[in-house]
Amino acid sequence: MQKAIKIIIIIFIFSLAFFINFLLLTDKDSTIIQKVIAAQLYLLVIFGAAYFWGVTGALIVLIGAVVSHGILLYKEPGVLVIRQEPWNHLFPVGLLLFNAMLITAITKLITLQIQAKSDVALQRQLQEDREQLRKLTQTCENLKKDLLHTSSLIITVANFAKKVNLAELAVPEHDETTKGNKRVSAIVNVTIESLAKSPNTKYCAVYLFNPHLNLLERKGSAGTPLHEEPPDKIPLGEGLLGRVAETRQTMRYEWSSKDSWQTAGGKTWLTEVTFAIPILYQNQLHGAIYLEKSGVEFQDERLISETIAGFVGLALENSAVFGRSEQMAITDGLTKLFNHNYFMLRLNEFFQAARRYNNALSVIMIDIDHFKVYNDTNGHPLGDIVLEEVAYLIKSNTRETDLAARYGGEEFGLILQQTDLSGACVVAEKIRAAVESHRFHNEEKQPNGNLTISVGVATLTEHTSSAEQLLKDADEQLYMAKHSGRNKVCAQSIG
Ligand code: GH3
Ligand code: MG
Ligand code: MG
Repeated sequence: MQKAIKIIIIIFIFSLAFFINFLLLTDKDSTIIQKVIAAQLYLLVIFGAAYFWGVTGALIVLIGAVVSHGILLYKEPGVLVIRQEPWNHLFPVGLLLFNAMLITAITKLITLQIQAKSDVALQRQLQEDREQLRKLTQTCENLKKDLLHTSSLIITVANFAKKVNLAELAVPEHDETTKGNKRVSAIVNVTIESLAKSPNTKYCAVYLFNPHLNLLERKGSAGTPLHEEPPDKIPLGEGLLGRVAETRQTMRYEWSSKDSWQTAGGKTWLTEVTFAIPILYQNQLHGAIYLEKSGVEFQDERLISETIAGFVGLALENSAVFGRSEQMAITDGLTKLFNHNYFMLRLNEFFQAARRYNNALSVIMIDIDHFKVYNDTNGHPLGDIVLEEVAYLIKSNTRETDLAARYGGEEFGLILQQTDLSGACVVAEKIRAAVESHRFHNEEKQPNGNLTISVGVATLTEHTSSAEQLLKDADEQLYMAKHSGRNKVCAQSIG
């Protein structure tokens, strides 16, 4: 484009020069053909001079001027028209030289100007490129930060997944009464730990859903709340967390949206943001996570937190399922007391511990009197109900630390820790009396008009060789009770 303008200007000036010279070179002695040829040569010469510039240009002009002047002076072969005034010959030559110099100078000047103009444009282009480069570097920088942040969040999730799997190991074996709760606590603690370590976290809390009370209960937290800490118990549908639990949808709340803006990398910069994320398993509510962050918020923040919440849901569900199956393996399906296997396992454990620490330990064996008669009279289904009721009476007359089990068909076993013989007898008598006074369906048809139990009690002495021995001692007392009229408590005589 610039080149085209330059050529047009040069052609225009050259044409002008040609025209002026054509007029000036009027010589009454030259023919029009001479004038045209001379002028065309003149034009060529100027083009040549402009093109070559310097010494070559000057020589072309000189030779051209002499030749074109010669053409003008040509009359006929061998004859030149010699003018009277010698300077008349020099005039067109001088004029040609002057014009050539003038035109080439103007051409150069225009060239320089165009050059200067293109320099300015180049500078501007360079500036724009530099700005573009700066923006690109900034974007790369943001992307790098984003990547680093994302990878640290991924590490958080990976560590969390690992720890949540190991949380189970932190729970001691056989501690059935507290095992389920401890497992849940381990999951909550691992979650809190991971969320607290996640970048920009200022405060985090884990709430679990209590389906009986229909509310969320805070089970753990870390950090300092940026604003008011949510209550430790939140009914479903109330407040941010309550709504999240009810709708099962994540909610994101900006505390200071006016301070947010978009950067080149498309990231939102915020001062404070709160996430409330439901903990779900197959859309079943397990709880909610409350997370307060301050600083730069990255796009994956919500996704990563939701992933953690997903893991928590899965871990809690796993724990519940595992707990249920574990419970089933040690529970008697009919009476919901522990089963025979579990009774024996724990009896051995308690025996060892009592021996080592010199603690008291007692065992109670219970058998329903004339239960065969009850079954024969009322049928097995009603017999099963009696078993359930007796189990309930045993359970409600013992402490949390006592272990009650269905030992056999209609036989029950009780392990009483830190309880001596007299203490065990008190418990045995309480249970016997409770069964005696309880109104069982159709019990009047029993041989003695009442459904009763016989009870044998034994305790750990220095002669007790094993857990089995202790059990045998209790069984012997039960046999004694049966043979001394039933509906009795018989205890081992010691000392
Ligand atoms: P006693 O102990 O007073 O000497 O007489 P008993 O009739 O209770 O004695 P026995 O041990 O001979 O009978 C136990 C009965 O318990 C036999 C069986 O029908 C009944 N039984 C065992 N398991 C179950 C059960 O799961 N459901 C029902 N309904 N009955 C059961
Ligand atoms: Mg029996
Ligand atoms: Mg019996």
